[in-house]
Parts: sequence; structure tokens; C-alpha cells
Amino acid sequence: MNPEPRRITTDVAIVGTGLAGFAAAVFCLDRGIAAVQLGHAGALTYTTGYFDLLGYDRGRSIDDPWRALADLGATWPGHPLARLPRSTIEQAFRRFAEAIGDLGIAYVPPGATNVRALLPTGLAKTTSSIPRTMAAGAAALAEKKRTVIVDFIGLVGFSAKEFVTNFAADWPGLSSAHIGFPDLDGGAEAYPEVMARALEVRATRERLAARIRAVVGDADCVGLPAVLGVHAPDRVHAAMEELVGVPIFEIPTMPPAVPGLRLRELLEQAMPARGLRLVSQHKATRVDLRPDRIDFGYRDNFGEVVIEARTAILATGRFLSGGLVAERSGLRETLIGLPVEQPAGRGDWHRDDCFDVRGHPINRSGVVVDDDFRPLDHDGVPVHPGLFAAGAILAGQDWVRQRCGAGLAIATAWRAVDGVARMSGR
Ligand SMILES: Cc1cc2nc3c(=O)[nH]c(=O)nc-3n(C[C@H](O)[C@H](O)[C@H](O)COP(=O)(O)OP(=O)(O)OC[C@H]3O[C@@H](n4cnc5c(N)ncnc54)[C@H](O)[C@@H]3O)c2cc1C
Repeated sequence: MNPEPRRITTDVAIVGTGLAGFAAAVFCLDRGIAAVQLGHAGALTYTTGYFDLLGYDRGRSIDDPWRALADLGATWPGHPLARLPRSTIEQAFRRFAEAIGDLGIAYVPPGATNVRALLPTGLAKTTSSIPRTMAAGAAALAEKKRTVIVDFIGLVGFSAKEFVTNFAADWPGLSSAHIGFPDLDGGAEAYPEVMARALEVRATRERLAARIRAVVGDADCVGLPAVLGVHAPDRVHAAMEELVGVPIFEIPTMPPAVPGLRLRELLEQAMPARGLRLVSQHKATRVDLRPDRIDFGYRDNFGEVVIEARTAILATGRFLSGGLVAERSGLRETLIGLPVEQPAGRGDWHRDDCFDVRGHPINRSGVVVDDDFRPLDHDGVPVHPGLFAAGAILAGQDWVRQRCGAGLAIATAWRAVDGVARMSGR
């Protein structure tokens, strides 16, 4: 006979441990709402570390994201960000960046305009809020500072030479240097994560700084691949600047990379200490929508567990994280079986030109919600009064083309938590 499942009761179950799920967790804790969160590693590990708000419109880069957000309703009717007032988006985005800073990774808060931030291949992208360890890179690009980009023998996922070659026309004062990383300079492949953990040790920092000093020359600043620590990047960054003697900035490497890993490890370690009940590396496999609560079932090494939640936030992402699945007959929401807004047939999923600036219709698919961000059934009625949705799973947006991944995740999480708070009486 199967033993009775273990039961956990909570105000809210947050399903998903991506940016939307963790933003929801931060906002719930802020309001004293008891939260249980579960999920696998999602797209979080793939991010550059930059928090995008709204970076591009049909292939054109956006300088003023707030004006673009105000105009969004006209070009993207029903876009989740167009359904939220500026004050909500601003408040949510600022609070999340501030919370991440308090937990251990300082961010430059989102400003009135977007910034051009550096990408590993020697390109820039438009984004809103960037980690402090990367801020001097955006400034160096804007001011065309004399900069030496340093990479390491055997390093995988970043080439200083490629970076400099691709930026040559735009940024004349750039040069590159190729040096050995202490104890990893034998010529074998070396990974950024290993270097980042090694730089948390003072002796490694001192040895690396001496090698960097030898190639700085007359440069005003130094750009490094993002390897300045996993757990205390601000401290490692400050220590390296002091040792080298010029401003240093990090450049994200190819994903999955250290900036995403940092966010994941930080959130997974710091949030439970602040009261979140985190069930990491487990996915909900069953849902029971009851009149007064929602039950989520999963299985761990000790057997079945049921989370009995008064409310829930579905933040399970799209295809990469498994919130949606594409099958021969169409797209399907995997956990609850919610209706998915999608193109009429498979032939309509993609346009002929892969790089069509309008994007592909499949990338606007997702769950349709009401103004409180509650998923709707086929008749346009909320599926459950206590069920909310946030992040990439929402219909009507193309976060990849629009560079609005973090903005979408954070702002919609805020709105979903508003609904949870109302229902929890907080
Ligand atoms: C390569 C790449 C680069 C990116 N770069 C940036 C960037 O530079 N800036 C930026 O702002 N955004 C970036 N993003 C986007 C960002 O990482 C998020 O994808 C986006 O913000 C959406 O977050 P989300 O939480 O909605 O979904 P996801 O991050 O996809 O998370 C979904 C979560 O749901 C979980 N889940 C799924 N099914 C279940 C289930 N049944 N039970 C429990 N959990 C479940 C998954 O395990 C995962 O944890 C990038 C994404 C990728 C893929």
C-alpha cells in the first residue's frame, strides 16, 4: 500500500524557478506572504546577467523604453507589458534590481534610457539594468575609452581577438591580450565557471592581477570575460580593480555562463534564508484545482508530496523550460492543460525568412490572462480564482525579439503577486 503523501500548506505556490518565479518570490516575501516555490534550472542560467526592459522594436533599437512601453499597445495589442501602467513596471523593476543587490549582486538601477551593453562576440545590445561588475564596459563603449580586452589560454566561450575585431570600426581604442590564467594555463580547455570560483581565493587574484598589469600598457580600463567570482562578484571585482590599478569590467561569455549561474546560486541560497520554502530540482507533475485551493503534486526521494496552496503563480516559461510543448497537433501547456493562444496551424508557426524583423508567430504563443493575470479558459473565464500566471508563458509577446525577458518576467510577477496578496488579505 502506498503511504499517504506528505503535505505542505502555503498561501501561494510559485511554479517555476526562472526570473518570473524568483521575482514573484521576492515580492511575496516583501508582503509577508508564505510561499513555496518549485522548479528545475530554467533559462535563468542562460542570461547575460543584463535585465532587459524593452530593447528592440521590429529590429530597431529603443533608446527610451518608457516611451516605447507607452506606445506598445498600438503596435502589440494585448502585450502583457502594454497592460500594465508605467508605475507598476517601474516599481517592480526597481524593487527586483534592489533586492538582488541586497542579496549580493549589485545592479545599476534602470534609468530613463536604455544602455548599450557588451556581448561576448564584440557586439552591443540594448538593455536596461546591468550588474555593477559590467557597468564600466557600457561606459567605455559610450566614451570610446582606450581599453584592453583580456582573454585566457584555453578559455572556452570568449575570444578577446574576436571581440576587438568585431568592434574595430566602432571603437578604435580597443586592443586585446591573451594571457595564462593561474594554474589553468597548460593549454587544456578552461571554463569560465572554474576561473570564477578560483578568483574567490585571494592568492589567485593576486597572481592574475600581476599578469594583467603586465599587459595594461596605456589603456584606461580592462575588459575581462565574466569570471570575477560566483558568490561575491562585487567584492572580487573591487579587489581586482585595486590590484590592477585601473577600472575593470566584465563581459558576459557564451551561455550558459557565470552571470546566470551567479543569479541562480544566489537566489537558491539566499531566498530560503529569508523565509522562502524552495523545492529546487523538482517539477510539479499533477494539479488539482479545488474550489478553495490548488494542489500541486511532485515526487522526491521519499515519495509523493502535495503542496496545498490557497493561490498559485504559474511561471513555467515556454519551450526551453517546458512550460509549453510543441506537438504535431499544436502547442500545449504542459502542467494544467490551459488553452494556448497559437497560430491556426503548424504551417503558420514560422515565417519564410528566419531573420524577419516581425519575428515568428509561434513566439507570440502562450497563455491568455485577464487584467489580474489569471489564465482564462476557452470561454474567457478565469480557470481558477486563485491561479495567476507570469513571465515567458504569457501570450502576446516575443521577448527574444523585443529584448524584454526580464522586464516581462518581473513586471508580470508583480501584478500576479498583487492578485495573490488580495486573495490572501495582505
Ligand atoms: C539564451 C538566453 C539568453 C537570455 N538572455 C537574457 C538577457 O540578457 N536579459 C534578459 O532580460 N533576459 C534574458 N533571457 C530571458 C530570461 O532568462 C527568461 O527566459 C525570461 O525572463 C523568462 O523567465 P521565466 O521565469 O518566465 O521563464 P524561465 O526562465 O524559462 O523559467 C521557467 C521555470 O519553470 C520551471 N518549470 C517548467 N515546468 C515546470 C513544472 N511542471 N513544475 C515546476 N517548474 C516548472 C522551469 O524548470 C524553470 O525553472 C535569456 C534567455 C535565454 C534562453
